[in-house]
Amino acid sequence: MTARIIDGKTIAVELRGRIAAEVARVLSTHKLVPGIAVVQVGDNPASSVYVRSKSKAVAEAGMRAFDHKLPDDVSEAELLTLIGTLNADPKVNGILVQLPLPPHIDAQRIIASIEADKDVDGFHPLNAGRHATGLPGLVPCTPLGCVLLAKSVLPSLAGLEAVVIGRSNIVGKPLLQLLLAENATVTVAHSKTRDLPGVCRRADLLIAAIGRPEMVRGDWIKPGATVIDVGINRVPGEGGKSRIVGDVAFAEAETVAGAITPVPGGVGPMTIACLLLNTLRAACAQNGLPVPLL
Ligand code: NDP
Repeated sequence: MTARIIDGKTIAVELRGRIAAEVARVLSTHKLVPGIAVVQVGDNPASSVYVRSKSKAVAEAGMRAFDHKLPDDVSEAELLTLIGTLNADPKVNGILVQLPLPPHIDAQRIIASIEADKDVDGFHPLNAGRHATGLPGLVPCTPLGCVLLAKSVLPSLAGLEAVVIGRSNIVGKPLLQLLLAENATVTVAHSKTRDLPGVCRRADLLIAAIGRPEMVRGDWIKPGATVIDVGINRVPGEGGKSRIVGDVAFAEAETVAGAITPVPGGVGPMTIACLLLNTLRAACAQNGLPVPLL
């Protein structure tokens, strides 16, 4: 069997097109331009790349980006003051603080200081609680992207055995809630799980969010299963260059799985598309408009 490749790039482009059309509609009918503030502390090259691509995507969707680049030695108090200003600004519908933050700043305190209805990353404890109890709220972008990719090849997730490897607050735990909401039967595995290959072999839907290059082997996968690979790992490549691989050994997995996401070009592009979706939804909710499903 050769797995169907789930083309995250194309699916993300289509979603971004639908978002841009909806942004144009709310502009013409309600004079509303959704706006997102992206706050970066320091000059981490990887963060700078992410921030640039987020700002470009925001502009392409017809939204406003307010970029705030702060020096590495900015104090926690100064950052909290900026967030307070953004919380109070009606032009700013979403606030994203690029992580990681320098060690002298308490990231949890910063996340908790963001107005929950502007928390487009979906990391605020209030949004995590809303999500866990089935209340409407903003959902983290990467897990949301994973579920949209799974649903692009599976007509329904109801009743499926889903296994998520990884239990972080930003990927694994929100995936548990999202998959439960889709009526899947969910197992969340982690570093203390016994017989991880055996657990994975039960999965109709296997989602790997580990951060270990190519850890999931082909013989861990149930024939025909759908595999979503969240991992982004830089490994040495040919000629002294590095290359990016996922958490799944793709060449082995694609001979067993029914459908699989590549790395790069799978989950990554969906994360930014879902950030735009969250910003649009936040802007609509804050202005008393129906929240678009898209
Ligand atoms: P974390 O490091 O926060 O979590 C990793 C999880 O994997 C933990 O729950 C850990 O278990 C588990 N784990 C680690 N080693 C093993 C093992 N040997 N066996 C079983 N489980 C293990 O990572 P994140 O959730 O933040 O990210 C995961 C991956 O996804 C990374 O590669 C990251 O770069 C990528 N990522 C990609 C995004 C995208 O846009 N595509 C966005 C966010 C992340 P335990 O809790 O027991 O320690």
